[in-house]
Amino acid sequence: MCSDTNHFHVERLNQFIYTIQENISEIHPIYRNDPLNLYVILGSEKAILVDTGCGLYPLRPIVERIIGQRDLIVVNTHAHWDHILGNHEFKEVYIHKNEANIVSHGYSVFFLQNSPAKIVKRYEKYDHLIPPAEKVHPLEDGKTFELGGIKAEIIHSPGHSSGSICIQTDKKMLFTGDVAYYGDIFLPRRQEFPRVLKTLSKLINLWDKQKIDKLYPSHRKTPCEPSLLIELWKNIQKIGDVWDKRKYNEFFFAWEFQINDFIFYVSRS
Ligand SMILES: [Zn+2]
Repeated sequence: MCSDTNHFHVERLNQFIYTIQENISEIHPIYRNDPLNLYVILGSEKAILVDTGCGLYPLRPIVERIIGQRDLIVVNTHAHWDHILGNHEFKEVYIHKNEANIVSHGYSVFFLQNSPAKIVKRYEKYDHLIPPAEKVHPLEDGKTFELGGIKAEIIHSPGHSSGSICIQTDKKMLFTGDVAYYGDIFLPRRQEFPRVLKTLSKLINLWDKQKIDKLYPSHRKTPCEPSLLIELWKNIQKIGDVWDKRKYNEFFFAWEFQINDFIFYVSRS
């Protein structure tokens, strides 16, 4: 059910992490990557909100209840709509410099005009142009945030989008955004696969060096084992073998492939 009070599902995962989940399929049934996982990383003095979700229902009161008196840092893992549309509830957001421009302006949601009527009605309030946060801070690879008892580092992870980031903590957690999860995976054009694989290799290397031991993806199951990174790496390599069997998905303007448990959408634009 979708209402102001029960749209989000909040759960404490451990000493440092809360998830705030919403179902993206409620916004348009073509999206099957439920739930969408937003996170709060909680230090003793500061907290990071990882992504702001679909922007339909008030998120900030939920976040404030979780963080109490702590200072809040809002970070977008990338600029796709399901991760940033709640930005307008917050004064400042951080996002990788490659995508800072996208979230500095109103974000058009006209592509969702065929969503269920109650959803369209909510976006109509904003004329289908969702306002940005007041201030956008560009992030660079390696930027760290000391939260008190836990430290977070930005890992630039291009592929899914050019400004995608992961967030690594010194407690061996890796927040993967849309770089890795179990579900329908959205990839850039085939020519850019080397970049996707390079990013996965970089993250696998963190696991090899025992710097991470759990993944916290932005969609579906959480947490996950880091072996997901290897599964993705292997299955993305197989797309070339089944290229002739590609189907066209009009809504996503993408080629669609089913390989093992993954459905891959490869952008045509
Ligand atoms: Zn997403």
